[in-house]
Amino acid sequence: MFENKQNRTELSSIGEFGLIEHIKQSVKLSQPGSLKGIGDDAAVIDNGPGRTVLTTDMLVEGVHFDLTYTPLKHLGYKAVVVNLSDLCAMNAQPRQILCAMALSNRFSLEAVEELMSGMLLACERYGVDLVGGDTCASGQGLTISVTAIGHAQEQDLVYRSGAQVNDLICVTGDIGAAYMGLQLLNREKKIFLENPGVQPELQGYDYLLERQLKPEARLDIIQRFKTWYVKPSSMIDLSDGLASDVIHLCKNSNTGCQLYEEKLPLDHLTVQLGPELGLDPTVAALNGGEDYELLFTLPLSEYEKIKDRAEVSVIGHMTDAASGYRFIDRQQNVHELKALGWDAFKS
Ligand code: ADP
Ligand code: MG
Repeated sequence: MFENKQNRTELSSIGEFGLIEHIKQSVKLSQPGSLKGIGDDAAVIDNGPGRTVLTTDMLVEGVHFDLTYTPLKHLGYKAVVVNLSDLCAMNAQPRQILCAMALSNRFSLEAVEELMSGMLLACERYGVDLVGGDTCASGQGLTISVTAIGHAQEQDLVYRSGAQVNDLICVTGDIGAAYMGLQLLNREKKIFLENPGVQPELQGYDYLLERQLKPEARLDIIQRFKTWYVKPSSMIDLSDGLASDVIHLCKNSNTGCQLYEEKLPLDHLTVQLGPELGLDPTVAALNGGEDYELLFTLPLSEYEKIKDRAEVSVIGHMTDAASGYRFIDRQQNVHELKALGWDAFKS
């Protein structure tokens, strides 16, 4: 249904109900708990025994994304993934989503199809159902709001508030790359606007672009926690940047923290591109955000279970609240970790 991209079908020609019908045609339900999807006044789901976990996130054009370099399919994918990432951060299994969008007349049916194809690809990859939403006109631009529904047993839920003094602070994957990708895209956009003849120089940086444009939720990690017999004492997903997010854990758990620059997992491209963009990779990791990796704490006694896991890096430990938020750089200098502006200390 997503062919004929050359054609432009005005949304006004099919109307709101035509569009909803169109979306409905492309949606298949796979979760046994999705009893009623698109088509009635509300969806009906059977979540069985346990806890229902809910989250919602809104993406606004010009604030959260820039369509000059964001393909609509990627945007749809990301809009779903950022919500699933929040459910993973609760150690919950995502099951359904709802999607509301406001569209200006700049968007054609074909554009909405592109957006939906990304959303549905994410649904398929993560095994969740799109069970409803809302569609309306907007005076200007595009706004997408996704709500995600997940499930967990009470004893499996992980909050921001459970960390104890001396717990290890762990992070999955690598960090800072999404911000590097964003800087790269902004640089190329600027060059393009000044000189439209120049082709963007993005070759070799696929990983950084993907981290920015098409992030993934670490559902694989929360599934592995079960097989590793690991339950974090606290957890958050990295959306705002490591510094800000670790402080969220500390504030909620009433602890301080100590992080080590040398332990931060940086991808080699992040390290390589840093000087070229005039950006310290450590600053990108601390303050960049949008990595959607999981940041969690574990009691020291659990160290053996994760020490040889390639997906997990131990980057520091929790301290008592009075010790504050500390960052030890490679020269062993101690800095106060700030939610933003740690770079001010660098010079
Ligand atoms: P109502 O007027 O009762 O709010 P709507 O006409 O908005 O109903 O929606 C009809 C059905 O279509 C509902 O099941 C709703 O969840 C679904 N729906 C509307 N917009 C979307 C969308 N963008 N994506 C998925 N489902 C949608
Ligand atoms: Mg409605």
